Amino acid sequence: MHLVIIGNGITGVTAALTVRRRQPGARITLVSDESAHHYSRTALMYVYMGHMRAQDIKPYEDWFWSENRLELIQATATGLDTGRQQVHLSTGVTLAYDKLLLATGSVTKRYGWPGQNLRGVQGLYGLPDLARMEQDTRGITQAVVVGGGLIGVELAEMLHTRGIHVTMLVREARYWGSVLPPEEARLVDQQLTANGITVRYQTELAEVLADADGRVRAVRTTADEELPAQWLGIATGVAPNLSLVQHTAVETDRGILVNEQLETSVPGVYAAGDCAQHRQAGAGEVPIEQLWYTGRMQGETVGHTLAGQPTPYRRGIWFNSAKFFNLEYQTYGQVPARPAAGSESFYWEPANGQRALRINFDPARSFAVTGFNALGLRLRHDVCEAWLREQAPVQTVVAHLGAANFDPEFYRQHEPEIVAHFNRAFPQQAVQLRQGKCLISKILNL
Ligand SMILES: Cc1cc2nc3c(=O)[nH]c(=O)nc-3n(C[C@H](O)[C@H](O)[C@H](O)COP(=O)(O)OP(=O)(O)OC[C@H]3O[C@@H](n4cnc5c(N)ncnc54)[C@H](O)[C@@H]3O)c2cc1C
Repeated sequence: MHLVIIGNGITGVTAALTVRRRQPGARITLVSDESAHHYSRTALMYVYMGHMRAQDIKPYEDWFWSENRLELIQATATGLDTGRQQVHLSTGVTLAYDKLLLATGSVTKRYGWPGQNLRGVQGLYGLPDLARMEQDTRGITQAVVVGGGLIGVELAEMLHTRGIHVTMLVREARYWGSVLPPEEARLVDQQLTANGITVRYQTELAEVLADADGRVRAVRTTADEELPAQWLGIATGVAPNLSLVQHTAVETDRGILVNEQLETSVPGVYAAGDCAQHRQAGAGEVPIEQLWYTGRMQGETVGHTLAGQPTPYRRGIWFNSAKFFNLEYQTYGQVPARPAAGSESFYWEPANGQRALRINFDPARSFAVTGFNALGLRLRHDVCEAWLREQAPVQTVVAHLGAANFDPEFYRQHEPEIVAHFNRAFPQQAVQLRQGKCLISKILNL
């Protein structure tokens, strides 16, 4: 079997390694235009900030690929002929495949703003963006970032470390308003303020203004304010990269449509990771998942299928993590920006506002926990997942918070305060703090 994979991101590489483990004899070719070798996209910011060198963000040594008989081609796949089972490359080469995996990732979204193609206006998705940012932010003093999500804060932090003043334009009334409840958004806002970032809420980009050399010199906002800026970061989201499949038999919507085995409308052609759109997303799941760890999960799942063991993709319990300057964020399960009907939410934040814990639960289902948000605290992934999977009652969870404590030295001091706060907020469900690290199975059997 010759498996051709387009894209050497986390999805394509995980699929390749899974197939290699299961089918030592398979021929596997990875085609990618961005870089010769796989690197960790999530670590791009650390290269700009000088914490890591470009070679440090490659998880595998360069000899690893030939050692594992994975053929690497650095080129753009410019054409796909699903009838002949061929991929055409920018180098003039045509690759014949038995099975094809599209793992083409995303592209930065732009909204047709006047002046959006000026020099100094860009998103941050890959290595070429990083190189351009490095060049175009050298020596500048003021920048604007459009978009109040995770990449927006990353860009703000990157620029801040170079002493560049940043103004963020955020469409919603609060930071990441479509995802974070108001209290969590306020904590992130405090981080931004503490780091000297100016934020304009309920404000969008209207126009990018040029200097005499065709470079950005300022932006005009929807509040008709002109903000001086020698660089403009676009962080208004990403969209699946569909360039290869346009005008082919592969069906698309917003992403490349796949069934639960991640197969497209064309038999033998699969899609996974950021570029894929699930035809039937499960309850509480999103059809397009643009995360590092879901890319890895999808890559592994499709790898099993490609290696001859058809395996449905099961998303499992929602998890995400990020860092807003110094504030670490973890979320598990369902924690919508506005509470779901019938659900209850317990929220704790100490007086100094440096951290927070939210636990959502459902009184109609024996107080089963439905989601966690942690800011400035680290929870143990396995414990939170088990509590959500087993629908543990909130009383059990609060009484045994220590079991979810990833960093006992740091976290233990907050547990009595959290429990006392819970007991005041929900006197009918009042609990006593249990000390010690109980086995999760024991906890759940209580
Ligand atoms: C700056 C940044 C920070 C992020 N931080 C986080 C984080 O903290 N946590 C998190 O969960 N997620 C994060 N993400 C999202 C996460 O990185 C992505 O969800 C993940 O990398 C997607 O992996 P993928 O393999 O599906 O696609 P990609 O990593 O995008 O890989 C696809 C590759 O295919 C190549 N390609 C596309 N089309 C072609 C073609 N026609 N021919 C040849 N090559 C092609 C692309 O150039 C690209 O290199 C971040 C993303 C960015 C941009």
